[in-house]
Amino acid sequence: MTAPVYLDYAATTPVDARIVDALPGWLAADGAFANPSSTHIAGRQAAALVATAAEQVASVLGCEPGQLVWTSGATESDNLAILGAARYRAVRGRHVVTMPTEHKAVTDAFRQLEREGFDVTWLAPSPDGRLSLEALRQALRDDTQLVSIMHVNNETGVVQDIPGIASCCRDRGVLLHVDAAQSFGKLPIDVAAWPVDLLSITAHKIYGPKGIGALYVSGRPGSHIAPLFHGGGQQGGLRPGTLPAPLIAAFGLAAAIAADSMHRDHDHLSRLRKRFRDAIRDIPGLRHNSPDAGFPGIVNVSAGDVDGESLMLALEPLCVASGSACNSARHEPSGVLRALGLDDAEAQGAIRFSFGRQTTDREIDFAAARYRAALAKLREIAPGDAA
Ligand SMILES: *Cc1c(COP(=O)(O)O)cnc(C)c1O
Repeated sequence: MTAPVYLDYAATTPVDARIVDALPGWLAADGAFANPSSTHIAGRQAAALVATAAEQVASVLGCEPGQLVWTSGATESDNLAILGAARYRAVRGRHVVTMPTEHKAVTDAFRQLEREGFDVTWLAPSPDGRLSLEALRQALRDDTQLVSIMHVNNETGVVQDIPGIASCCRDRGVLLHVDAAQSFGKLPIDVAAWPVDLLSITAHKIYGPKGIGALYVSGRPGSHIAPLFHGGGQQGGLRPGTLPAPLIAAFGLAAAIAADSMHRDHDHLSRLRKRFRDAIRDIPGLRHNSPDAGFPGIVNVSAGDVDGESLMLALEPLCVASGSACNSARHEPSGVLRALGLDDAEAQGAIRFSFGRQTTDREIDFAAARYRAALAKLREIAPGDAA
């Protein structure tokens, strides 16, 4: 089998070598395997590891360690925030607001709220993919309890104006949840200054392991949420269960590394994006779905006359995503791209190239050449109306 050329960092990232090296020491009998809730020496060792990690993650968010709830990842954090906030506040009102361009973990949680009788307003993006503050202001009602808007879009890299959205919400006494799975450790975040009430993050998008994430909960008066799980009372009962100290420690280290290399990473990604865009500039019939002002690690392009799944096969051994990885299992055109005004064929022909810390110029050049050749081949088989 040919070695994969990995350009799917928006889906998940390989684990940083420093974390791979540290993990055995945390997992084994002489490490921090114990239950951090146990009061014996071994438990206290694990608890100390968790405390360090909480400080590392909190310092990247601008919050207190005690405002973090550990979860299994951003999917769980999104569900806990959205279902937990809406259900807790249902006595005050049942109107909630989000966008159709959110991650499935958010849109499907809102679909569940609809089934429970909540009234959901789905705000369409402006042509640039962003939410206009005017549209948000108009959508907020006296009975609105929760707004959920992501920071960086996982398919296109569109960056929302979270500080602006947050102050709109705070002015009206509405809770704001932000899915920051794609931006945590990659763009500056300051939950206290913005000000955000709930924010979801995950380790495996920042070179940490899969299966560990967190939800920031401001805890200010009126921001309480209901738990999804019931059990041992850990984490204030908000998310009970034995804490996976080794995974939490790995998340903490990943966050510390990300904070340390955030500016370097951003410069690297910006340079790679320019190189890739320059290399595909003269290919006819391409639609660019990622704005210049977007996160530089994601380049989404589509050709309306070529099917994304066929393109994925023709691109091998390149590992990229067609539309969204979450949608591709179902072979539906991406709802995110449809909401941006692409027709079914354009959305179906979309490819997301996403770059990371380890991506090299050679890989960029290989991807561009491969993309050009694959498009040419498929267009030859089924001549369309490109250009
Ligand atoms: C990856 C991702 C998720 C899901 O995170 P998991 O940790 O895999 O559950 C949610 N939202 C966004 C925007 C993502 O990119």
